[in-house]
Amino acid sequence: MAAMIGEELRAAFHRLFSAMAEIGATPAGGVCRLTGSPEDGRARDLLAATLTATGAEAIADTVGNQFGLFRLPGAGDTAVLCGSHLDSQPTGGRFDGTYGVLAAVVAAQAVRARLAAEGRTARHHLAVVNWTNEEGARFQPSLTGSSVFIGSLTADAALALADGDGVTLGAALDEIGWRRDGTLPVRPIRAVELHVEQGSVLETAGVPIGLVTGAWATRKLCLAFVGEPSHTGPTPMARRQDALRAAARAIEALYGIVEADGKGAHASAARLTISPNSPNVVASEVRVWFELRHPQQAILDDMAERFLAAATAAVAPLGVAVETAIDERRPSLPFDAVGVEIVRAAAAALGHASLETMTVAGHDVLALQRKMPGTLIFVPSEGLSHNEREFTKAEDLDRGLDVLAETLWRMVTAANV
Ligand SMILES: [Zn+2]
Repeated sequence: MAAMIGEELRAAFHRLFSAMAEIGATPAGGVCRLTGSPEDGRARDLLAATLTATGAEAIADTVGNQFGLFRLPGAGDTAVLCGSHLDSQPTGGRFDGTYGVLAAVVAAQAVRARLAAEGRTARHHLAVVNWTNEEGARFQPSLTGSSVFIGSLTADAALALADGDGVTLGAALDEIGWRRDGTLPVRPIRAVELHVEQGSVLETAGVPIGLVTGAWATRKLCLAFVGEPSHTGPTPMARRQDALRAAARAIEALYGIVEADGKGAHASAARLTISPNSPNVVASEVRVWFELRHPQQAILDDMAERFLAAATAAVAPLGVAVETAIDERRPSLPFDAVGVEIVRAAAAALGHASLETMTVAGHDVLALQRKMPGTLIFVPSEGLSHNEREFTKAEDLDRGLDVLAETLWRMVTAANV
């Protein structure tokens, strides 16, 4: 069957994608669009202008989640949500998140045009969305906007999140004019997200479409190592309570466990804060952000407990205390089976091979599916992510866009969805 995205819409998608990649562009070909930054504001402005130009209702809520409601003939008060995020890591790629938002804008137009051309009605509207602070680069935790949307985080708590300089999300959104008071006037019944894979499963298999059946379990821990400040020169070694040395031991303990287990877990220690962070003062408090991930919940839980015990034991001889500042558990969740089958059928109808896979990274649709069925579609990456050189070929973007449009078509028109 022919793809729903015609030549004109496809060209419009690529123009829009190029225009968005200019906003916050970095010299190495990536983007830096931290939540609430001027670049985030300009990206939001471009999306809003695009939505308005296509005849969608542009709406934004109190935490800056940005919606484009495509009202479809015949639909009542329900909608299928489709989108991703426009914020990025400090040295992020131009595909991560952006692809899913812009593809949703174009796919929604294609669905609306096909309904008009065939004189048909839909059972649900389509709502395109750009979720606030998916990345969690500037404000933690990540998946902020989608978590507020489904009620697992309050708007007040989200707006009070502070970045490393003490600026709150609320103040940052005010600064760029994107703290609004709109609400989506329809009831979402399911959520769809199209995203670059960020790994290399599809690329290695030579398959263009990933049917994501589940997510790896993730544990995100921020541990505070608390020692005592003292002069780095004269203080006798035995008297020091060195929080940075303690952090180093804990970090090595984590990697040691993961390597010794050999069970395929992914783990990291990727952010540090050091107090007082002077070359002449033994660090008195160090915070380290750790992540552990594994497809199986039980293996992850066991590994995390052993890590906490090992870290505590490793730092005890240093006279340094360990406190848990953040302990966030994201369970291993299966995606809605109906959605997986719709994507599988859509890809097959278009003649594209597909492959069942899991997501290792977090995505907004994972937060959303606590309240509604969620569907995640992948297109190939070259295995590099959260990197300015992240890349997906134009033909892979096009295939994903076609599958998304066909998926949304089936979701808004099928009698049983
Ligand atoms: Zn993303």
